[in-house]
Amino acid sequence: MAFDIEMIKAVYARIPERIAAARKAVGKPLTLTEKILYAHLTEGAANQAFQRGVSYVDFQPDRVAMQDATAQMALLQFMQAGRSKVAVPSTVHCDHLIQAEVGADKDLRKAKDKNKEVYDFLASVSNKYGIGFWKPGAGIIHQVVLENYAFPGGMMIGTDSHTPNAGGLGMIAIGVGGADACDVMSGLPWELKFPKLIGVKLTGKMSGWTSAKDVILKVAGILTVKGGTGAIVEYFGEGARFLSATGKGTICNMGAEIGATTSIFGFDEKSAAYLSGTGRADIAQLATGIADHLTGDPEVYANPENYFDQIIEINLSELEPHVNGPFTPDLAWPISKFAAAVKENAWPAKLDVGLIGSCTNSSYEDISRAASLAQQAVDKKLVAKSEYTITPGSEQVRYTVARDGFLATFEKMGGVVLANACGPCIGQWARHGAEKQEKNSIITSFNRNFAKRADGNPNTHAFVASPEIVTALAIAGDLTFNPLTDTLTNLDGNQVKLDEPKGLELPSKGFAVEDAGYQAPAEDGSKVQVLVSLTSDRLQLLDSFPAWEGVDLKGLKLLIKAKGKCTTDHISMAGPWLKYRGHLDNISNNMLIGAVNAFTDATNSVKNQLTGAYGEVPATQRAYKAAGIGSIVVGDENYGEGSSREHAAMEPRFLGVRAILVKSFARIHETNLKKQGMLALTFANPTDYDLIQENDSIDILGLSSFAPSKPLQVVLHHQDGSSHSILANHTYNEGQIEWFKAGSALNLIKAARA
Ligand code: SF4
Repeated sequence: MAFDIEMIKAVYARIPERIAAARKAVGKPLTLTEKILYAHLTEGAANQAFQRGVSYVDFQPDRVAMQDATAQMALLQFMQAGRSKVAVPSTVHCDHLIQAEVGADKDLRKAKDKNKEVYDFLASVSNKYGIGFWKPGAGIIHQVVLENYAFPGGMMIGTDSHTPNAGGLGMIAIGVGGADACDVMSGLPWELKFPKLIGVKLTGKMSGWTSAKDVILKVAGILTVKGGTGAIVEYFGEGARFLSATGKGTICNMGAEIGATTSIFGFDEKSAAYLSGTGRADIAQLATGIADHLTGDPEVYANPENYFDQIIEINLSELEPHVNGPFTPDLAWPISKFAAAVKENAWPAKLDVGLIGSCTNSSYEDISRAASLAQQAVDKKLVAKSEYTITPGSEQVRYTVARDGFLATFEKMGGVVLANACGPCIGQWARHGAEKQEKNSIITSFNRNFAKRADGNPNTHAFVASPEIVTALAIAGDLTFNPLTDTLTNLDGNQVKLDEPKGLELPSKGFAVEDAGYQAPAEDGSKVQVLVSLTSDRLQLLDSFPAWEGVDLKGLKLLIKAKGKCTTDHISMAGPWLKYRGHLDNISNNMLIGAVNAFTDATNSVKNQLTGAYGEVPATQRAYKAAGIGSIVVGDENYGEGSSREHAAMEPRFLGVRAILVKSFARIHETNLKKQGMLALTFANPTDYDLIQENDSIDILGLSSFAPSKPLQVVLHHQDGSSHSILANHTYNEGQIEWFKAGSALNLIKAARA
């Protein structure tokens, strides 16, 4: 699958020297996380020490991975950069758009038909620009990356929040928005606030029913969904060495649920075994050669409290299997306490569906352990009481577990094998009867269990556990069943107990696959045509945004003065709009429809100053655009918090909003606005927000001498003829001011390559 061995050799050649320089700059031993981060600084940032949680630092990632939903806008933007090929190895994975309904084959056929134009676009754009393309059915991005591309000591960004899965193989892997992916593919550095570090020391050894999933379910219970924010979680200790590489991947994957930037394990024998088992013995050998650099310094692990910002210790010998939920992944219950919690909280004890697999838990080890229970059900004459589905993470895993008889075992138990795709995990589940919104329980080996995520039903109580526990509870059909202690009645009326699950980390006959679903890009893509239909309502090629006209912005109409929380969801809603992610014009019809108008407290209703009538925000803005009049959006504190989706910055830019003036910005959104050539300004005096009136026309002055740290003047012209002159601050540096002048960061890249 064309992992780039030369690129990995270059990274490994750089690592020892960079780490030595970092140790000198920092002045003390280094954690693994610091080693990899410092090894990936851009040349300009090398040889300096950075303050955790404070410094913004430029990195040079080694790879980019994109899933099909987010890749669309990332690649449409990349096409604007004027490059003939991506600057770093990159891949696209078609996994999110496949709906699970009846089973793998039919569902996949239907998805290929329904999403044809999106797949054709992604395949052609990948082919043209040197991007590896994983077809629908090939598997889920994170599992495919772990099997093919993750490598110890590397750094990757991915346009999906569970990108950290690759931390199981010792890679710093971070989920980002499409604009960041576009930058890195275009050859720009990638900026990140130097993270804080949480150390998790694992002692003891797991056995029996406990699995790697239980480590992260326990950690989620300790840290909660916010506890990892702004931090990288580094796992270490003797206990870590007993965990398989894929088990470590599960733990890192679900680190997203505690808000962590990413999570990581050091390189060890298990990493080497997995690399060799997946056809990458040469990488295992290279990594072994620099093994000391692919783990934290011994002094760090001897006295972790001196080197991490927070330490957690977990004894794996004492760790019980956990079930987390409902509705949040941090509500952690050891299995011995779960039945009582179900009864006390009156959660539906009857289990309707058990779902295993997903990017989180579909390794050979996971499937083989779950299958050992399914086999017991058959042997012990137990009939599974719940529906049961299996989502393999990749075609390679699916083919191998089918060859080794596990899928047949699940089918004997009544299980349904779904396509190698996200399916129910992302709400792509046509669950029959969900529309009735009945109270019910499901349990999955996925990672997220927020209300409505799997089937759209707010009354579905979703719990998360290991594939083993999911399988046992699906056999019992009862959430209060504890497989460690309880018995079940079989078809003969006898009481039987399930034995501990057993499995293999790696297939004894090796992995096999007939068609992994990979499509290599053309060597020379210059003649390849990118396929986008002019009549498509899901895809639209982008035009460059116009450059700044070189004069102050005068007479901007106030589009909306937003009150209170205005997240990227308020600015560019998700849900049904996701369909238009690749079509800027169409998705712009959701611009700011969730923002609250400060003058009326209504959403999606603002005054059109040209007519005096109230109308929807996008329609009103389109009227200004049609009249050739610029506009301005005013906002409150922390404007643009939430996801990093670039649409929230592109939509106002596309529709002709010229500036966003707020009390404060969420930083990622502020940067996204700058990248798109917008003016992102803050009130020098936050109470000036109160001076903004509904019929204001606003001038922004001082742009011809726009300079870092120099405030701009903003004049508010009120309807009664009075005016106020106020100051607006900004955080543009020299380079970002050039983005503004060029019309966007991409325009500047393109101009530089011309
Ligand atoms: S399986 Fe679920 S968590 Fe994994 S990438 Fe797909 S949607 Fe995201």
